[in-house]
Amino acid sequence: MNSIRYKAATVRWWSYSEARCDHARMCRVRILLLGLCVLVAITLTLAVSLSKHQTVDYDFPPKPPDLFKDKLNHQPGKPTVAQVKRLVSQVNRERLWYSHLRPILTERQPGSRGSQAVRKHIFSKLDSLSAGWSVEVDSFISETPHGPVSFSNVLAVLDPMAPRRLLLACHYDSKFIPSDPSDPQKVFVGASDSAVPCAMMLELVTALDPHLKKHKQLVSRVTLQLVFFDGGEAFEQWSQTDSLYGSRHLADSMSRIPHPPGSEQSTLLNAVDLLVLLDLIGAPDPMFVNHFENTARWFDRLIAAEKRLHNLGLLSSHPKEQTYFMKDINMGPVEDDHIPFLQRGVPVLHIIATPFPSFLHTLDDTADKVHSHTVENLTKVLVVFLAEYLRL
Ligand SMILES: [Zn+2]
Repeated sequence: MNSIRYKAATVRWWSYSEARCDHARMCRVRILLLGLCVLVAITLTLAVSLSKHQTVDYDFPPKPPDLFKDKLNHQPGKPTVAQVKRLVSQVNRERLWYSHLRPILTERQPGSRGSQAVRKHIFSKLDSLSAGWSVEVDSFISETPHGPVSFSNVLAVLDPMAPRRLLLACHYDSKFIPSDPSDPQKVFVGASDSAVPCAMMLELVTALDPHLKKHKQLVSRVTLQLVFFDGGEAFEQWSQTDSLYGSRHLADSMSRIPHPPGSEQSTLLNAVDLLVLLDLIGAPDPMFVNHFENTARWFDRLIAAEKRLHNLGLLSSHPKEQTYFMKDINMGPVEDDHIPFLQRGVPVLHIIATPFPSFLHTLDDTADKVHSHTVENLTKVLVVFLAEYLRL
């Protein structure tokens, strides 16, 4: 019995002992389980938190840092005196006048034969250059007070794959202005508005052709794009719907085209460093003022280039070192082809003569009113500006 009791006792002891042991094990298991739960909870919290951050990043993608930082931090090159002399010596006034300007001095309203002829002229000039421009026509039809009209912007890019672009632009269409009833041969050719700016752009890329070719080969982060806008002028009365047909269309389409191709974060419009718009150039003694504070440092480069060229004796009919570009004079807002870009946040340098030429929108805006030395001088200033900006 004892033994049995003992046994029983032993059994009980063992049972007790086992129970205690089980209890201890249970405790350890519970602690382990609890620890595991805490670990899982922490892991889940972290995962949720991280996924939340990823969602936030996805919903509000950060701007591509390179593109925007590069634009903001872009510094112009500093060409030496010898380089400046060499660069501006390439500007050829005769070529500008006869080869580039003369074929544009014709009626060239949107959709007309004159417009088509001017586009052909621009194509052939760009095609003759060695830099290798990618030229395309951005055509579309828009309703106008004269019914539906076909418009064609001409776009030329040096390196379409470059991350950023400097846009140099003018409008090539001429305004609808009735010819002189007493002299039907006298038609509106808009020499200063804007045949001369178009010819200057062609002369600029011709004078800089070897430098632009080298620039393209070096695969730079910023390239040059030329834009010849169609439909800058109103058909009748200037209004939001009757004006700026080509620039409104282009700014809108550039804001929809991903750049670099396939990008979900940036568009061709984001790729624009600066839009340099030329207009109403050709009359003697023009004045150009800065219109926008955010591009004042680039306007300063124009002032500096004019002074430098004057002091080097490289300008003609240029009485004092600061003749054309004047800072901090308010001439009021000017509506022009930059507006659709400005409204979308593109920095703008608007090079337009203010006050406007006296013959604006009259049949007298002809080649004989254009001061060839002024046009040549301004082209030289722009050669220096482009060479500095693109670090040619
Ligand atoms: Zn005009």
